[in-house]
Order: sequence, then structure tokens, then C-alpha cells
Amino acid sequence: MQILKQDIQYLPGVGPQRKKMLSEELGIATYGDLLEYYPYKHIDRSRLYPISELTGDMPFVQVKGRILSFETFKMSSRKERVVAHFTDGSGRIMDLTWFNYGKSAIKKYKVGTEYIVFGKPAVFNNRIQVVHPDMEPADSLELSTMNMLPYYHTSEKMKKSGMNSRAIERLTRVLIDAVKEPVAETLPDFIVQKLHLISRDEALRWIHYPPDAKALEKARVRLKFEELFFVQLNILRYASDQRRKYRGFVFGHVGDVFNDFYHHHLPFPLTEAQKRVIREIRKDMGSGRQMNRLLQGDVGSGKTLVALMTMLIAIDNGYQACIMAPTEILAEQHLQTIMHFLGDMPVRVALLTGIVKGRRRQEVLDGLLDGTIHILIGTHAVIEDTVQFARLGFVVVDEQHRFGVAQRAKLWGKGQPTGGAGGGYPHVLVMTATPIPRTLAMTLYGDLDVSVIDELPPGRKPVVTQHFYDSRVPSLYNGLRKQINQGRQVYCVFPLIEESEKIDLKNLEEGFEVLTQVFPEFHLSKVHGKMKPADKEREMQRFVSGETQMLVATTVIEVGVNVPNASVMVIFDAQRFGLSQLHQLRGRVGRGADQSYCLLVTPFKLAEETRKRIDIMCETNDGFRIAEADLKLRGPGDLEGTQQSGMAFDLKIADIARDGQLVQMARDEAQLIVDEDPTCTSDKYRILWNRLRELRKTNINWAAIS
Ligand code: ADP
Ligand code: MG
Repeated sequence: MQILKQDIQYLPGVGPQRKKMLSEELGIATYGDLLEYYPYKHIDRSRLYPISELTGDMPFVQVKGRILSFETFKMSSRKERVVAHFTDGSGRIMDLTWFNYGKSAIKKYKVGTEYIVFGKPAVFNNRIQVVHPDMEPADSLELSTMNMLPYYHTSEKMKKSGMNSRAIERLTRVLIDAVKEPVAETLPDFIVQKLHLISRDEALRWIHYPPDAKALEKARVRLKFEELFFVQLNILRYASDQRRKYRGFVFGHVGDVFNDFYHHHLPFPLTEAQKRVIREIRKDMGSGRQMNRLLQGDVGSGKTLVALMTMLIAIDNGYQACIMAPTEILAEQHLQTIMHFLGDMPVRVALLTGIVKGRRRQEVLDGLLDGTIHILIGTHAVIEDTVQFARLGFVVVDEQHRFGVAQRAKLWGKGQPTGGAGGGYPHVLVMTATPIPRTLAMTLYGDLDVSVIDELPPGRKPVVTQHFYDSRVPSLYNGLRKQINQGRQVYCVFPLIEESEKIDLKNLEEGFEVLTQVFPEFHLSKVHGKMKPADKEREMQRFVSGETQMLVATTVIEVGVNVPNASVMVIFDAQRFGLSQLHQLRGRVGRGADQSYCLLVTPFKLAEETRKRIDIMCETNDGFRIAEADLKLRGPGDLEGTQQSGMAFDLKIADIARDGQLVQMARDEAQLIVDEDPTCTSDKYRILWNRLRELRKTNINWAAIS
């Protein structure tokens, strides 16, 4: 299909200037690019509305009528507004308004000529008006052939120079006529047949100009499937490749360290879910394949213990293990938790973060190199080049959504292959407390096997979540006082948004002032990200030890902090947090045996979407439901981690949140093919491997996992 590679400049109606605009603003350089520049919606243009039926709520309408007269209003010395009074004989007059280019509108459109006006109606001064309408002489349009008119996004800059949706539409019309030969198929025939898909050629034409709504739907399904299919094929190809390249160390036995811990140090029985997950991990470790497993479990489900026990298996087999956490506070807390669990067991644990410096740091580095340190816990400091292990065999990445695929690989890459029969690479366990909807997990972490802890330790009462308007904060204070007087502790969180750290710190400072005045009888701690680590640590410690009853903080406490005696989480300006963040914060309470509360404080006036977020929080504690809702509300592009994930994510047409079924179908088909052709080289599927290679060249995101 040479024509699809043709420079867009040669398309009638383009030329050098538009070529520049198209390529700079929309990334369209060839005929093929334009063909794959899909409209975001279609509007049925076979229908005309009478002006008398128009309301301000209608999205877009089409009206046929005549201009009665023009009127010009001075707005300032330089600006004027031009209004055309427009009638269709239905008894009501509509205003067409231009704030820019009014003069040229007067020149271009004639009083008395019949036009078809197209635009979004609004109500202004009790009259229907359309601002900057799209108008064509009525005799130039054949409405019956315009059933479904495509709409294309264009940038502000393009609109200013007349390259609006209509202009693109004209180009796609010319393009589709110019592409005379059928566009080549990219999927094997048997898939097209089996799934009753339409051909790629038909889909690409219909996605722009469908004969009817049903055809449009068919085109969308075909193109979405194809897009998702190649994403899945790429992930599975990558996973298969990794599997062949990287054998895993074989941890053949469970020994003294694990058994000693299990029989003498485990402070409580494991939940069934923890047992199951440990079994899954053990199986991977003995398989000879490198484990790449994602461990999902809601906050408080006991992932740390699972990580520790599986690290002990690595130690039993003569290897070292390492945990990488996203923040210093969390790394330190892991250290404390793990040391506490281990008690007097002869397992040496060390901490490495940015603040471990000088001699202490050197000691850690030496201990790793001579193998006397068994478990290293740290922040991303552990992936620095100076950190080297004697025998790294097992790597745990906590709260993965903050690390990317590349960082993961850099860490496990520190386990040198030893060659020979026992040779291999370290196993990798990725832990996340952000539940990820299945379809997203398949795409984001599609190269990982998944284990889920779907059970909380016994005795936990679900956190009760309530919404408070600002005006009711005084009654909220009374509740806090009651809790603290019963010996509980309280978190108060204020938002911190990076672009305006100063203002928000002011929020925190002011909030802290107010709370100090409201609760003179209590001790308060204050923690935020701009504090020196040592100060932060000291304040946190005061709260952990119970010396202070209230911790006033920004979201630095979001991840992992564990104070079972804290029973209330107050989130001020909750409207400024995302759903998963709110859920993470809520997970800080409900860790002890007492009833816990999460109180969301917002102003009275809330945007529709914000109100939905708050409602979902009040309705459910189920992290998976919240993740699904989050995905639907925000779309995958905004989800934390999708940018760094290293997976293809600028999907053109498919939507991970809404097209779950297609994701699954694409996954299944791709899996069958990779199972049959694990080296991804067979001639039978040549068409697919070639296409994949082509796609990976065009999309920077794809390259990250090639
Ligand atoms: P998360 O999955 O959020 O990392 P943690 O590992 O921090 O959860 O565990 C939360 C709390 O539950 C900790 O205090 C931990 O000691 C405790 N815990 C873990 N497993 C169990 C269990 N099987 N029974 C009782 N408590 C447990
Ligand atoms: Mg944790």
C-alpha cells in the first residue's frame, strides 16, 4: 500500500502550510496517518430542527432558514460583536453571533439566501443563539447523503487558521476517494472469521463515513480489537521472550530459617489468602523460570508478611533478598516491621536510603558484597550502580505504581547470572496496594503473573466513611475529641498539590494553627514533605509512640504507614484528592480492633464528578470497586503509573475502562498465538510479527518493552 506512505502534502487541499500544521499539531505526516486519525463522534445530519423547538441543552443542531438582517454592537474600542437574525418560518427568530471575523461574515453571507446553519444552541437574553455557526448555502448540501457527519479534534492553533473539524472532514473525503485499492489486512483470516470482524479496509472507510450507525459500530469494534490485540501480542511476546532468555534461580527447598520463623516467630496465624499466595510464590521459585509476579492486596491485607516469608525462602537457599519501597518513611517502617517480626533470629537486615551516608553506608555496601547482609530494605537508592550484591536472588518492589518496568529490571539485573546448572536470575515480586481492575492489569502489568490477597486479617471492622461539609466541622471536632479521650489517635490530612506547594503548605500551617487552638488539651504532630527527613522522622515517631494524639500532615503519610491505635482519618478539602488516593489514606485506619472512621470534608458546592467520588468512598471499602470507578471516571491515561509503566498507552480508539470485553478477547487470541509460536518467528504468523515490528517503530511507548 504505497499510497498510505504518501506525503500528506500531495493530498489535494493540503499544500506545504497545512502539511506543517497537520504534522506539528496532530502528528499527521502521511495519507495513512490521516486515515488513522479517527473522528471522535458523528452527528446525524439528515435531520433539521425548527427554531421553535430548540433549547439550550441540545448538543448540536441543524437549522434551515434565511438571514433577516445583520446588526453590529460595539464591545470596546477595538472589538465588536456581529449578530445575524435568522428565521426558518417556525415563528421564532434565532441569533447567529460572531465575536471574531464579524466583518467577513457580513461579506460572506447574504440576507435572503437559504442556509443550513449548524452549531450548538445556547440561550442568551431569552433568545436562542449560535456562536460562530457553521453555515453552508442550502443548495450546496445534499442532506440525504450526509447521514453521519464525522467530527475531528483539532487544536486551538489550527482552528484559528481555519483548520477546524470541517476542514479535516473535507480532507478525509478526498483521501478516501484517493485510496482506491483496498487497504491491506493486518489480522490473520481465521481471527477475522472467528470474531466476525469486518475487514480493515472497510473499517477504515466506515470509521469516517459510515452508511449508518450499525456500520459505525462494526468499524469501531474492528479497529478497537485490532489495537488491543497488538498491544496484548506485544506484551505476551515480551513475556515469552523474557522467559526464554532469563532462567530463574531454583529455590528447591524450604529450610531452617523459614521453618524457625513459621513455628516460633509468627505472631498470628496466616490468613488463607496469605497461605495461598505464599504457595503460588514458592511454586514459581522452584520452577526454573524467573518469577515475575504481581501481588495485589488491599491496604492492610498483610503483604509485608508475605514478602518477608518468601524472602526467608531465598535466604534458606543461600541467596540475598531486597525490598525497594517508594519513600523513606515507608522503607524505615518496613525495616522496623521486619526486624520486629524476626526478633532474635539470625537474619541480618540493613537499610539503604538517601540519608544513609558515610561510614554507615559503606558498612551496608560491604555487607551486601560479602554476603553477610541477608535482606536489604531501601528506596530507589538500592538501584544505584554502587550497590552490589554477593548473591541477590529475590527482589520485592513495594507499591509498584511508582516504579516503572525499567527500574524493576535494573534492580533484578543486579543478580549476576552464575551459569551452570544452578544459574539464573533473581525472582521478582511486585506488590501493590492499589487494586487494579483486571483489564487494566492485563495491559499495564500484562507480562506479570498475578496473585491476589482478597481477605483481610480477622477482627478488622470496616472503616465507616462519612462526608462533612465545611459548615459542619465543629460537630466533627466534637467527635474527634471523644475518640481521643477514649485513647485513640487521629490523622488530619491537608492536600498538597505540587505546582502550588507554598499555598498548600499554608493550608497545612493554617489548619495546624486552628487545630492547636481547638484542641489545646492534646499534643499534635505536624509532618510534610518539605521537612528535613530527621525532623519528619522525629514527628512521626512521636505519633507512633502515642506521645502525640493527632498527626496533622500532607499526603506524605499516604503510603504504608502503620499505627493500629489510630482510628480516625480526617481528610480536609477531600475534593482535591483522587479516588485511589482517598482510598489509600483511608487504609491508614481500621488497622486495630476498634471501629474506625474516615471523614471527608468538602465545601458545599461540588462538581458532579467530585460528588461521585465522595459518594463511592462513603458506599464501599472494596478497593477493586473503587479502582473500577476510578478508571471509569478518569480514564486510564490519568491513572497513576500508566505513564511510567512502559506499556503502549496512547490508544487511538480503544478505551481500557469501557472496552473490557474486547481487552479480554484480544488477550485470549494473542495468548493462543504466542503459545503456538513462542519464539514469535513462524511463517504462519509472519503478517503479525511484521505488523508488530512496524508498530513498534512508530510508537515510542512500544519501544520501552521491546
Ligand atoms: P499491607 O498489605 O497494607 O502492606 P501490612 O503488611 O502493613 O499490610 O499489614 C497490616 C497489618 O496487619 C500489620 O500490622 C500486620 O502485622 C498485620 N497482619 C498481617 N497479617 C496478619 C494476619 N494473618 N493476622 C493478623 N494480622 C496480620
Ligand atoms: Mg504495605
